Amino acid sequence: MIVVSKFLAAVPCHRMSSRSFRLRGVQLPLCARCMGILLGYLALPLFLLYRTEYEYKIGLLLCLPLLIDGFTQKWGWRTSSNMLRMVTGLMFGVGQCIVIAASVAILIRVLS
Ligand SMILES: [Zn+2]
Repeated sequence: MIVVSKFLAAVPCHRMSSRSFRLRGVQLPLCARCMGILLGYLALPLFLLYRTEYEYKIGLLLCLPLLIDGFTQKWGWRTSSNMLRMVTGLMFGVGQCIVIAASVAILIRVLS
C-alpha cells in the first residue's frame, strides 16, 4: 500500500478537490481525468499480448475525446464534469496502450 501511495504521489496531477472523486468523504489521490488515464493503462498487457498494427488509428481516435474535453474547457467554451473527465481519461489511457502496442508490433516487424 505504501508503494502504491508513493507511486500515486509521483504522478503529476493538480489534485484539485473540485475535479476529484470522493470515496466515503475522502478525496481520491488523483483527479478524475488522471484516475481514468491510469485505469486505462491497466489494459496495456492485453494489447501487448494481442498487438496488431492496424489498430494504430483506433488508438489515436480514442485519444481525441480527452483533448477535445480538456481544451474546450481550458478555452472557456464549456465546463466539463468529473464523470466526463474520467470517461475521456479512460479512453485516452486505452488509446495510448493501443498506440504503444501497435508501435511495438511495427518495430518488431521492421527489426526482424
Ligand atoms: Zn490529474
